[in-house]
Amino acid sequence: MKDTFNRKIEYVRISVTDRCDLRCQYCMPENGVKSIPHNDILSYEEILRIARCIAHLGVSRIKITGGEPLVRLGVTGFIGEIKKLEGIEQVTLTTNATQLADYIDKLAELKIDGINISMDTLNPELYKKITGRDSFYKAFEGFKKALEYPDIKLKINCVPMEIPEQNLPEIAGLAEDYPVHVRFIEMMPIGLGRNFPFKSEMDTMKEIERAYGPLIPYNGVLGNGPSRYYSISGFKGKIGFISAMSHKFCDFCNRVRLTADGRLKTCLQYEVGVNLKEAMRNGASDEELEALVLMALESKPKEHRFEEALVEGRETRSMFQIGG
Ligand code: SF4
Repeated sequence: MKDTFNRKIEYVRISVTDRCDLRCQYCMPENGVKSIPHNDILSYEEILRIARCIAHLGVSRIKITGGEPLVRLGVTGFIGEIKKLEGIEQVTLTTNATQLADYIDKLAELKIDGINISMDTLNPELYKKITGRDSFYKAFEGFKKALEYPDIKLKINCVPMEIPEQNLPEIAGLAEDYPVHVRFIEMMPIGLGRNFPFKSEMDTMKEIERAYGPLIPYNGVLGNGPSRYYSISGFKGKIGFISAMSHKFCDFCNRVRLTADGRLKTCLQYEVGVNLKEAMRNGASDEELEALVLMALESKPKEHRFEEALVEGRETRSMFQIGG
């Protein structure tokens, strides 16, 4: 399926929950989180039905997200079913890895294609400060355990913050020691992220080059996303940058998002989209659901306007409620 800007939409990020066991400062407040009532969350059967419809329209890659997807009971069974869907060539997962050590054997058995681990620092004290939880060692154990499965493509996602102790070169160093790609994602003004300045790709690059020498552009394809990769001599993995603020990549947008409460979002920054849960629970057929998806694509925005303070129709929810 294509949008009105002739962009091929072949990738969907599916959020299976708005719940998480961490409270990252730029994503989920410590208090006052009103979780979506259980009955308003899509059941796995409902998500599978929507995924089947979207796959029928041409989507071939699915990313399972949250909140934290591994906190939802039965998620591996669901992933197993998603993997069987006709037309779906790739299923990957984004996780904070605090539960990963308990699930990785099953995920490997299910032949998950890739896992992105969110990790902003290797400093346990700072990790506790950023995430609100003393879970660094659990997360790192999850990472180490995932390394035991070389068929699973592993990536680290790090959000640079203006905190010197974050020590971004130390995170980048994981790609020197292990066959993992480390990506630095510029902070986006979504939800609590609006309260944090974004540290630019250029500043992050300077820090890494000071520590390891030149970043050499790499032109190979290492995933579905907008990340631009670089090599460093002697590193086992690549260094990537996802820089929506300083290097807008909307011209190549290939995605839509399905929120845990059944909204199909056509752009991260805007609320525009369609409520597939409502339609489904009101008896819509698969054909009608597919027609709604195509209708939503007709109003998919050309690009984000994060650089503007006030944008009409902008998303008011936080990343944990929309699946990042
Ligand atoms: S901001 Fe919107 S248009 Fe741009 S890449 Fe993200 S989802 Fe696509």
